[in-house]
Amino acid sequence: MNLNAKRVALRWRRTKIVATLGPASSDTKTITSLLRAGVDVVRLNMSHGTHEAHSEVYHRVRAAAKKLDRHVAIFADLCGPKIRCGKFPDGPLKLTPGEEVMIDPRVDKGGPGLIPSQYRAIARDVQPGHRILLDDGNLELKALAIEGDRVRCKVVFGGLLKDHKGINLPDSKVSASSLPPKDIADAKFAIGLGVDYLALSFVRTAKDVAGLRRLIAREGATTPIIAKIETPEAMENIEAIVQASDAIMVARGDLGIEMPAEQVPLIQRELIRLGRRHNRAVIVATQMLESMIDHSRPTRAEVGDVANAALTSADAVMLSAETASGKYPLRAVEIMDRILREAEGYQWQQGSFLAGEEANLADMSLRDGVAVAATSLAHDLKLQGIIIPTLSGTTARVICSYRPTAPLVAVSTDTSVCRQLSLNWGIVPMTATQSEYGNWDALCRRIARSCDLTRTGHNVLLVAGFSDDAGRNSPMLQVLNV
Ligand code: PEP
Repeated sequence: MNLNAKRVALRWRRTKIVATLGPASSDTKTITSLLRAGVDVVRLNMSHGTHEAHSEVYHRVRAAAKKLDRHVAIFADLCGPKIRCGKFPDGPLKLTPGEEVMIDPRVDKGGPGLIPSQYRAIARDVQPGHRILLDDGNLELKALAIEGDRVRCKVVFGGLLKDHKGINLPDSKVSASSLPPKDIADAKFAIGLGVDYLALSFVRTAKDVAGLRRLIAREGATTPIIAKIETPEAMENIEAIVQASDAIMVARGDLGIEMPAEQVPLIQRELIRLGRRHNRAVIVATQMLESMIDHSRPTRAEVGDVANAALTSADAVMLSAETASGKYPLRAVEIMDRILREAEGYQWQQGSFLAGEEANLADMSLRDGVAVAATSLAHDLKLQGIIIPTLSGTTARVICSYRPTAPLVAVSTDTSVCRQLSLNWGIVPMTATQSEYGNWDALCRRIARSCDLTRTGHNVLLVAGFSDDAGRNSPMLQVLNV
């Protein structure tokens, strides 16, 4: 094996890292160290914090990325119609298996036998026999009867219920609006800031995505949307949701409550495949290095989980509380980076980032045919890289769906496209000026040199011209000596 070629080809990690920022990671020094350690995408979680605090963090990330000369995407994660219980002024409510309790949306404060619900329509959506899960599924109730606005329940799995814990209704069709007033205000605020993506929680149908798309358009923006897949209803409508959105997140926290946890790994696998088929980035999220919230080392099972995401070709893996509020935010990113690079080194040596999967050659579109050809040409001729001039990012996204082994450099004149592409598998985004954009030869030469691709050879593949608009779709590829 040519070790030099391997070193150059694997200089860039293919699987991207998303880090949620929070109290443990919002100062400039930590943000800079996280970006330096390899964070490609930052998540601002709108479930916590004020607009003022998010705005400060947003500007710190932009400043740090500029200083490091990196394209880093930022997304705002909207809360969605998350249902929560109210308060327990006398301390956490003890729920004992077999006992009967009442869920009441008309009261704010709970007490023995009484759980306040912040969701008014709970009695309309729940039917007798339905499960009602509390506190991330740690506590379980069964609905016995609907009494006006209230639901009488029996405790199945008990424990202590604290203020404002989440309520999941896995058996019920939830009728709550997909964009509650808080999400509308948060989305407008985040669009005004200039975030690169908006993530929509508890998506149930493609219409939910279309609703947010309309709001974005009314604000005069084109911010792409990440649909968070976390309910059985979303899985029933998954094909349309993927097509309606720009990227998806396997939100395993709520997904594993709303659906049997044993189905989550298989759903994850299928969603990664589906995302690739539609050229949509897929983020695998939640509990990836959970034990590192408190400990300096992950469990072996967590290491396996992160490696598995890379081996099954996820676009990105996400850290939540590990970086937002954990004790070791920087170490969590460093360890995640090491696990991913180890897995990718193995894949590269095997000659494929797609674990035995063949491209579906039947019914292939023109641009997919060109993408397949580009992938195998670059591999078979051991080309130094694939350089993709891409104004909207479409050509780069299609090529990356085929997971080529050669490094993938996407060049755009639009910095926001470059930032968006930092979420997609393997793409190294770079900016070009308008004047150099038309001269492919000189552009590829400059890019190849600045990315150090010429250390191991002199040929790169230029791929361009893919468009979603059939009239403007004119794919081309060319081997260039740089
Ligand atoms: C999840 O449920 O896994 C998730 C990412 O969503 P959130 O953290 O917003 O609940």
